[in-house]
Amino acid sequence: MSHFSYRNGVLCAENLPLSDVAERFGSPTYVYSKAALTENFAAYADACKRAGHGDNQALVCYAVKANSNIAVLNVLARLGAGFDIVSGGELQRVLAAGGNPRKVLFSGVGKTREEMRLALEHDILCFNIESIDELDRLNEVAGAMGKIAPISLRVNPNVDAKTHPYISTGLRENKFGIAYEDALPAYLRAKSLPHLHITGIDCHIGSQLLDDAPLLEALDRLIDLADLLAAEGIALHHLDIGGGIGIAYNNDTPVAIGDYLGRVFQRIDTWRAERYDGKPIQMLCEPGRSIVGNAGVLLTKVEYLKHGAEKHFAIVDAAMNDLMRPAMYEAWHGVQAVAPRSEATQVYDIVGPVCESGDWLARARELALHPGDLLAIMSAGAYGMTMASNYNTRGRAAEVMVDGDQAYLIRKRETPAELFALESILP
Ligand SMILES: *Cc1c(COP(=O)(O)O)cnc(C)c1O
Repeated sequence: MSHFSYRNGVLCAENLPLSDVAERFGSPTYVYSKAALTENFAAYADACKRAGHGDNQALVCYAVKANSNIAVLNVLARLGAGFDIVSGGELQRVLAAGGNPRKVLFSGVGKTREEMRLALEHDILCFNIESIDELDRLNEVAGAMGKIAPISLRVNPNVDAKTHPYISTGLRENKFGIAYEDALPAYLRAKSLPHLHITGIDCHIGSQLLDDAPLLEALDRLIDLADLLAAEGIALHHLDIGGGIGIAYNNDTPVAIGDYLGRVFQRIDTWRAERYDGKPIQMLCEPGRSIVGNAGVLLTKVEYLKHGAEKHFAIVDAAMNDLMRPAMYEAWHGVQAVAPRSEATQVYDIVGPVCESGDWLARARELALHPGDLLAIMSAGAYGMTMASNYNTRGRAAEVMVDGDQAYLIRKRETPAELFALESILP
C-alpha cells in the first residue's frame, strides 16, 4: 500500500496534505512516511519470523547509506534493525540514533585505521573484509588494542545482477570483494592471523534488482564456499546475503520481499538439514533501497515555465544537487502534481536551476502546470538526500517525517552562512 495518495484532490503523505508540509517547511523538502518505513522493514522481519528464524537466526541490517537521517535510523533501531555501515561517520550516526553497535556490520573497500579503531571500541558485530591487505591491517589494529576482530569475507560470486553498470557490484571486473577463486586462500590467511575471528561470509552483487534469480545464484555460490570452508575446519556462524532488492520506480515489478526471503530460508534450511544435521546458521541481509526508497518523496515548487519551439521546461526549486540519481544514472522518478489541475496538459522536462545541462529530474512528463505549483518527485527516499551536495552553493533540502497527520522537521534546511562557515580567507 502506498502511503502517498490523493485525498480530496491533494497528494498526501499518510494523512497530511503535502501542500501543508510545503507551507510550513518550504521547498525543496524531502518528506518521509513513518508508516511506509515501518511497513517496509516489517516485510523483512516478518519473513524471518515466518520461516521460524528468530533474532538469533536472522538479522536485518539496514544499509545506512541509502538514507542516513538519524530519525530514520531511530525508527528502524526501535523496530530491532541492525545496520550495515560503510564509514566511521555512519557508525557515529547509528550511535547517535540509538542503534545497537552489536548489530552493526562494517562494509566498504577502504576502511581507515581510525575507522577500524572506532568500530572495535564499540564492539561491532562484524567487519566485512574486501581484500587481503585489509585483513592484515585489521589484525594489526585489533592486536594493538588487545582485541579480537570478528570478520567475514566479502566474496565476489561473479554473478551478473543485470542492473545498471554503476550499481552492479558482483562481477569480476568490479572493485568490490574478493574473487571467488581467491576466497579459500584468503580465509586460510585470516585463520592464521591471531587477532581475527572468522564468523561469516558475505556478498552484495548490486542494487535495484527486480528479479531474485541472481541473488539466489549468489547464495548458492556462498553455500558452496561455506562447505569448502567447513572441510578446512572453518565453521561459519553467519551467512550474509547483502542487499539489492529493487523498488517500483516506474512500471517495474520487483520480487516481493517475503517471497524472496522464503526462497532464501528454504535453501538455507535444506542445506543445513542435509549436511549439518540441521545445525542452524544465522542469516544476515543488508537491504537499503527496498526499505526507504518508496517511503520518501522530494517536494518541489515550480518557479518558471519555459515554452519553446522544441521543448517545454518546468524549472523547479529542486535540482541535481538535491537528487543526483537522474543526472548520475539517468534514473526515472515519477512526478506527481500535489494538486492536479483539470486543464490541458503539456509535455515538460522537469529541470532545476543548477548550471549544468545534466540538471534534470524528469523528462517528457505530461502535466498541467502553473508557476507556484507543487510537485512530488516520487520514490526519492533512497539515495536522495544522502547523495545531495552543495553545488552552486545551494543549501541542502529540509527533511520532514510524517506520522499520521503530524509532520516533524528531522533536518533543517541549510542556510548559506552554514555552507561557508568552515572556510576562511587569508590573513
Ligand atoms: C549499498 C549496499 C547495500 C544496500 O543496497 P540496496 O540496493 O540499497 O539494498 C548493501 N550492502 C552493501 C555492501 C552495500 O554497499
